[in-house]
Amino acid sequence: MPKERATRLPNNPKPKEWLAKDHSLQYIADYKPFNFVDGEGVRCSIYVSGCLFNCPGCYNKAAQNFHYGQPYTKELEDQIMEDLSQSYVQGLTLLGGEPFLNTQVCLKLVHRLRKEFGHTKDIWGWSGYTWEELQKESADKQELLHNLDILVDGRFLLAKKDLTLQFRGSSNQRIIDVPKSLAAGKVVIWDKLVH
Ligand code: SF4
Repeated sequence: MPKERATRLPNNPKPKEWLAKDHSLQYIADYKPFNFVDGEGVRCSIYVSGCLFNCPGCYNKAAQNFHYGQPYTKELEDQIMEDLSQSYVQGLTLLGGEPFLNTQVCLKLVHRLRKEFGHTKDIWGWSGYTWEELQKESADKQELLHNLDILVDGRFLLAKKDLTLQFRGSSNQRIIDVPKSLAAGKVVIWDKLVH
């Protein structure tokens, strides 16, 4: 019934209920080099395939399917590194689908970026998981989190939808400074947040 659909909420996994090793097919929904919308500065964005949160109003419903798009390849990885090497590119952005349910792909990318560029390029990631949930999650998810500079966290909630927000779709989502939050042991919001 439409009423039921309107009031349905995203799925809420228990800690470690969903694991990348059980779900990811290592598929990529899209790759967008040199864009200005997925974080600060000029960025190269990779959209991994597969997400289990199933938020009503999801901005990329097709990418909820783990089999959507194309398999991740070494050629694509090489292309991303070459694109990132441009001096005007600020960094890499991981989106989905759900990056934390595709840690096989995302860890390859973040490790190679850090090896080749150190911290001269930054890494932003979007997740349906909240910061607090990720603290109780599997080792691969924690490893990915520790490699991010910025995490935009939480499900998309239609009831809190606000198109005026910077880099997020609903007001429950936060733009989190990951290194500062890890050091403080609590969420520290990005210091360039305007709205
Ligand atoms: S977490 Fe993001 S990708 Fe996943 S269903 Fe929700 S809005 Fe879509």
